[in-house]
Amino acid sequence: MTDRYAVIGNPISHSKSPLIHAQFARQTKQDLSYEAIPAPLDGFRDTVLVLRDEGCRGINVTVPFKFEAFQLATQLSVRAQAAQAVNTLKFDGTEIIGDNTDGAGLVADIEHNLGFILQGKRVLLMGAGGAAYGVALPLLNAGAIITVANRTEDKAYQLAALFSAHGAIHGSSYIALTGSQFDCVINATSSSLADSLPPLPRGESVSPFSSPGSSFSIEEHAKRGGVFAPDALAYDMMYGKETPFLIFAKEQGAARLADGLGMLVEQAAESFFLWRNIRPDTAPVIAKLRLI
Ligand code: NDP
Repeated sequence: MTDRYAVIGNPISHSKSPLIHAQFARQTKQDLSYEAIPAPLDGFRDTVLVLRDEGCRGINVTVPFKFEAFQLATQLSVRAQAAQAVNTLKFDGTEIIGDNTDGAGLVADIEHNLGFILQGKRVLLMGAGGAAYGVALPLLNAGAIITVANRTEDKAYQLAALFSAHGAIHGSSYIALTGSQFDCVINATSSSLADSLPPLPRGESVSPFSSPGSSFSIEEHAKRGGVFAPDALAYDMMYGKETPFLIFAKEQGAARLADGLGMLVEQAAESFFLWRNIRPDTAPVIAKLRLI
């Protein structure tokens, strides 16, 4: 019998998850269906419980329901507890198991797909919303040394305080970043959705259209004064367009640029593994989505 899975959000019609999971299922020869289901803003719990009672095996959860999913779960993984948000539900008898695969997806994309090892690296994490909470613990577990900056400063300090028992992390305002440099700068804000840019300190522009991969000497970088260290990776969790953050990072001399498409596919693969105990090959799926 075909096993049923779904992603729930509001809105949800834009979701690439059905496409991704259909490719995973084909590749691993799993007999399953996966559909996108909208839930009314006040109807997440009912939508999930109806699906479960109809025999659905698991659900991905996206904006704005990740916190409600966290509350609905009867068992939580360590990373879901840390994130205080759930993007994957698995039904097991009467239990609703909640997990958060966003952080594992980000780390897999950065380390395996982009070949950037996080151990000992200075990481600037911008944002203190659901996405930042989801990735903080996996980044710390990978050995990153994190500075978290947020527009509403207090939230950056709260996030850092919550995770400080797990590794090196501290909060900052954007202005206080002046003079600091980072090996990896991650945009976990929703600024790109509004075509805007977090208020990062601006160094002297290198060249508006320097190609990704171009590099500058350590002295040159220090003189320019931006937040990007030599060989820095600039990562925007948003995908599907060249964002203001990635344009800014290129201008400021970041050596490498990446969007969040790889993270999207990797977090899906982690959910798939939780449900089916099989790890799909993500590379061909990422490559295919890049063409769409
Ligand atoms: P939230 O609404 O929970 O948080 C938004 C955060 O962005 C807050 O910290 C907010 O700051 C900050 N922010 C919003 N606008 C600006 C701005 N103009 N300048 C500076 N900071 C700003 O959103 P999420 O954390 O859930 O999502 C963030 C992003 O991550 C989204 O773009 C989402 O699509 C992406 N994402 C991608 C995934 C992937 O698989 N690729 C997975 C999950 C998320 P303040 O506190 O001051 O309001």
